[in-house]
Amino acid sequence: MSGNNGNRMNGRTVLIPRMSDEGAVTFAAAFRSVGIKAEAVAPSNARSLELGARHTSGDECYPEKVTLGDFLRAIDEVGADKVAFFMPTADGPCRFGQYAPYLRKVLRDMGHESIPVVSPTSSNGYDGLTEHAGELVRTAWRALVSADAVRKLRLRFRPYEQHKGDTDSAAEASLDDLCRVLERQNLDQKARMKELVAAMERTRDRFQSVTMRQEVRPLVGVVGEIFCRLSNFSNEDVIRKIEDHGGECWLSDVTEWVWYTNQQHEERLVNEGRKFSGAMLKAKIKGAVQRRDEHKLLHPIHHLLVGREEPHGVEDVLERSRPYLPHTGALGEMVLSVGKAIYLHEKGAAGIADISPFTCMNGIVCEAIYPRVSADQGGIPIRVFYFDGTQKSIEQEVGIFLQLVKNYQRKQLDAKGLKGVLKTTAPQWGVDQRT
Ligand code: SF4
Repeated sequence: MSGNNGNRMNGRTVLIPRMSDEGAVTFAAAFRSVGIKAEAVAPSNARSLELGARHTSGDECYPEKVTLGDFLRAIDEVGADKVAFFMPTADGPCRFGQYAPYLRKVLRDMGHESIPVVSPTSSNGYDGLTEHAGELVRTAWRALVSADAVRKLRLRFRPYEQHKGDTDSAAEASLDDLCRVLERQNLDQKARMKELVAAMERTRDRFQSVTMRQEVRPLVGVVGEIFCRLSNFSNEDVIRKIEDHGGECWLSDVTEWVWYTNQQHEERLVNEGRKFSGAMLKAKIKGAVQRRDEHKLLHPIHHLLVGREEPHGVEDVLERSRPYLPHTGALGEMVLSVGKAIYLHEKGAAGIADISPFTCMNGIVCEAIYPRVSADQGGIPIRVFYFDGTQKSIEQEVGIFLQLVKNYQRKQLDAKGLKGVLKTTAPQWGVDQRT
């Protein structure tokens, strides 16, 4: 760690927001690989909401209330002199850009201005937090890909497990295994990749040993706001509820957002007349390195996810949303949600759940567009679930939605026959489920 920041951190642990359980732990492990003490913040609970509500008026996004509350809880439970908070920032119309400045303000108001807020942007070289920024960025990308992979396997296997809990055990053991590799210091990138691939092979073996039932379940695509769709606490564990009502979920990944921001960056360079520039070359190289890393990491589990392949590139998603929200005019998650909903329908989804924080513009715009998308996609049920932490129970809403999804699936199966059935059963090694 570099001199000034070494003093500033003074033995503190950087706490990573728990957007997804998987991503928070692997991301923290990536930080540890360059000598920074880091952990995922403790799982959110009712006290997080209580503390978050004390410093928010209700106009802020729900994810802001949750992340702020989690950090304030850590001050109480861990100690103000022992923690630092990781809160990235971004430009643009989304309120996310206000999270870090607002967190600093709340800490100042509470007399905790000495708590560092680590707010990486490409322009400040990761806040000077470490002289190993380049290495950290590469390991962090691998951490995100690994986390997405474990989550994807968890959601693919869990609905069909013979013994309740086996899939979650396989997922937790795999995350521990991957974190042990991600956190190792003084490992060059080539050696780390070799070790990570070996950990992904062990991940494959753990999931392959889960005993499964053969059962026909409707596939439900889950899109929406990135924090709310990934945070089980924020979305009232909606995915598990869909599984309890007989569905299997295909949840949009975190890496989808990274591919989208890469695409946006390149598009900006073109619009600025910098199509042939050093900046464009750098962007292309970065994208190619990320793609290569992703390919190597996912190779060992590829056959377990037949029928659940992600699009070849984010352009495939943007192309599908173009008739409704052209990505050259509309920005952000709404574009991805609409395009991905169509992609997931093409891959066999019989329903789409859009998870959105209450008052988030992305969900509101999508809700206005979905009736047309549904009509154009054979009447597939698409439902926006809003969350703000005040719901009594979403059980009934999920039950009604799943009924519509099952009716739609019945129609799909009538039309597609056996291939349609294969797409919606438990994973079968070596069976090609593609249409
Ligand atoms: S997408 Fe919506 S909920 Fe999420 S940070 Fe932006 S404005 Fe807030």
